[in-house]
Amino acid sequence: MRLVLLGPPGAGKGTQAERLAERYGIARLSTGDMLRAAVAAGTPIGLKAKDIMARGELVPDPVVIAIIADRIKEADAAKGFILDGFPRTVAQAEALERLLAQRGLKLDAVVEIKVDEGILINRIENRIAQMQARGEQVRADDKPEVLKQRLVAYRGQTAPLIDYYQGKGRLRTVDGMPPIDEVSEGISRVLTKKTPSEAKASPRRKPVRKSGRKTSRKGSKASRRPAKARKATRPKRKAAGRPKTRKTARKAARRKARRG
Ligand code: AMP
Repeated sequence: MRLVLLGPPGAGKGTQAERLAERYGIARLSTGDMLRAAVAAGTPIGLKAKDIMARGELVPDPVVIAIIADRIKEADAAKGFILDGFPRTVAQAEALERLLAQRGLKLDAVVEIKVDEGILINRIENRIAQMQARGEQVRADDKPEVLKQRLVAYRGQTAPLIDYYQGKGRLRTVDGMPPIDEVSEGISRVLTKKTPSEAKASPRRKPVRKSGRKTSRKGSKASRRPAKARKATRPKRKAAGRPKTRKTARKAARRKARRG
């Protein structure tokens, strides 16, 4: 199973990605986590990304594409993965498709977690309070002013992916407003349901007879009986009161006239 989770910052992608990874036994690949680790370790990528992330902007496509290209080759991704925070631009989505195609793979589904933007600031503030209560370090970009910029980036660069994946028949949308458990149930539901394009690609097949022949009117028992026998058992239509077409009405009138 190879999935992408889409949604604005604060939509709950991280939490849902963790749950999905556990449920399906697949790897959770979060470019945000990878970049934060690179910043913490002071690697060349981390040094490049640090200020961009602190401003709430997107790290350049080639940087994140290279990270994902390496990551999906690792052993734990062989069984499948859930991408959390990647792709974030159409160029990244196209690169992902190429990377998967090179390995003879494709995405199974893209799940969009839809939320009202009005609640996002509230959610992030709650997240900060919870992290502080647990004594954890708060993310440098979890500040209301940076969140605004992250939303601008989402609307301008990431939201176009919704149409992109819709056009490919991969998109499934889930309401991200209810409590976490309900959102998880919603995701499970959309993942087991076929999208209209998938249903079209594999229509329900006609039942196949034991002999291997498809059942049809032509091959049915009734049509294999001799025509005479079929006619004999056919219920007779009543002559009188039978609805007349104009032609049969004219014929009947002529017959009546002849009879005098
Ligand atoms: P996240 O943890 O997914 O919210 O990501 C945190 C930050 O990392 C984002 O605001 C971006 O600056 C950067 N980032 C993560 N993933 C990507 C990506 N796919 N493309 C560009 N920047 C990214």
